This record gives sequence, C-alpha cells and structure tokens, in this order.
Amino acid sequence: MNVHAQFLGQSERVLAGKVAIVTGSTSGIGLGIARKLAEAGADVVLNGLGDANQIERTCTELAEHSGTRISYNGANLMVSADARALVEQTIAAFGRVDILVNNAGIQHVSPVESFPEDKWDAILALNLSAAFHAIKAAYGPMKAAGWGRIVNIASAHGLVASPFKSAYVAAKHGIVGLTKTIALEGAEHGITCNAICPGYVWTPLVENQIDDTARARNISREQVIRDVLLAAQPNKRFADVDELGALTVFLCSPAGQGMTGTALPVDGGWTAH
Ligand code: NAD
Repeated sequence: MNVHAQFLGQSERVLAGKVAIVTGSTSGIGLGIARKLAEAGADVVLNGLGDANQIERTCTELAEHSGTRISYNGANLMVSADARALVEQTIAAFGRVDILVNNAGIQHVSPVESFPEDKWDAILALNLSAAFHAIKAAYGPMKAAGWGRIVNIASAHGLVASPFKSAYVAAKHGIVGLTKTIALEGAEHGITCNAICPGYVWTPLVENQIDDTARARNISREQVIRDVLLAAQPNKRFADVDELGALTVFLCSPAGQGMTGTALPVDGGWTAH
C-alpha cells in the first residue's frame, strides 16, 4: 500500500494500536497533543503536575471521548530516575511504547547577571535533560520494534533568542540539537525524531497573563495581545493547542515517515524575520 492510500484509508484512526506518552500533559499544549493522539486512536499516558481529582476527571473524559485507554503517571521529570521510570512503567503496563512526546517545560525570565542558579538548573533539567532520559529509555524498545516516533516540543526560542531567557533559550536550542542527533541514530531503525517550535500558543498560562499585564501597563487586552505578547509574531494570532496536536499526529502517521531531524516552526512567521 502506498503512503497516500495508507494515510487516507486510516485517516480517522491513523494511530490505532499505538501507545503514546506525552510529558507535561495535564494542561496546555501537552493536553492538546494528548487529545489529538487519542482521537487518532492511540492509547495515551498522561503526565504532569496538578490536582489529583482534576487529573482523574481529565483521564475519564479523554477515555470516553476517544474510546482509547488513557492513564496517568505522576513522574516528576526533574528527577532523571523518574523520567526513565515513566517509560519503563508504560512498557510494563501497555507492553510497548511507540510514541514519545517530550513536552513538559517551565520558564523563568531574568537578566543573566541576576538569573537564579536554581532556576537555570531546573529549566535545564526539565526542558532538556528529562527528554534525554526519556528518549534513552524508549529508544531500545523502539529499535527492537523497528518503529518509533519521538516529538520534542521546543519553541521558536529553539531557533532564535530573546533577552532575559538565557536558560530557556539554551535548553530549547539544546533540544533542537538533541532532535537532530536522535534522528540520525534512529534513521535506519524506523525511528523518527522531530522538534516542533511554537511561537506564542493560547494556553491558560498565557491567558492568565493578559489581564494582569493590561492593568500593569494601563492598556487594553487587545493592546496587550498585539503589542506585547505578539509583538514578534507577524500574523498577530496565537497558535491553538489543537494545531500542535494535529501536527504531532501528522508526524506520527504514515504520511510523516519521511520527516526526521526537523525543527518545525509554528510561529506565525516569527522566525522568518
Ligand atoms: P503549561 O504550564 O500549561 O504546561 C506545562 C506542563 O508541564 C504541565 O502539565 C505541568 O504540570 C508539567 N510539568 C511542570 N513541571 C513538571 C515536572 N517537574 N514533571 C512533570 N511535568 C511537569 O505550559 P505550556 O504552555 O503548555 O507549555 C508546554 C511546552 O510548550 C513547554 O515545553 C513550553 O516551553 C513549550 N512552549 C510553549 C509556548 C506557549 O506559548 N505556551 C510556546 C513555545 C513553546
């Protein structure tokens, strides 16, 4: 069957039978990606911090919505052993891991001369090292299966810098480099590895900043969005988590099998400057 027929023939449930881990998927982009993977037929292991009851409700809702198996693993990805255990426990529970989405991430904004050292360590640990540990644990089983899809959620800041974000920009550039290396190592083993590089994405995290910023600067919500948050984003709109989910599904689908080692901007033209 050619790729076109394969893709069209399974367009609704193109990932049926696959098992996916999405780190940092209790909110925002990770949850959007988990939802799209589940809608495409994958069993999904959610991970991240948050209220236990809310997380349980999310798992139930997602399982009812998708008809696939949804579970939760509360691994703290700041701890390297936990990142490995997330993969090992998934394989123990589901018998396999086919898709790994490294999404969990944090941010801290400060000039370099006062940048707190513990924030640097935490950002590097979560935004970069956790992906390495999870990939290391998943790579052998994917290689043995002859199939694997790794998607790293980097950022436009994996391609260009902004001031006052030294740790974040360093970690995101690092994960783009890690992506290329894993792509080369996995190329003959059926494993692809790609990075998605979003500009500003509409998540609760961003939404919550708007009213505060409007008050602090005495400007309207619309001015905050256009002139502060989206100043560098030429299309002046946020990406939606569903767009990132759909791109992740594409990369994991048969139609995406030739794409590996890429860093794909979803940034409304930001990095075209
Ligand atoms: P978010 O804060 O909504 O989600 C972050 C997720 O990571 C949450 O599920 C949180 O519980 C989890 N997390 C935090 N610490 C953790 C830990 N120690 N162990 C396990 N999980 C942990 O943020 P988001 O906006 O959805 O961002 C997700 C990813 O996308 C991040 O890597 C971020 O850098 C990247 N990104 C976001 C934007 C944006 O505009 N929102 C833009 C570019 C890139």
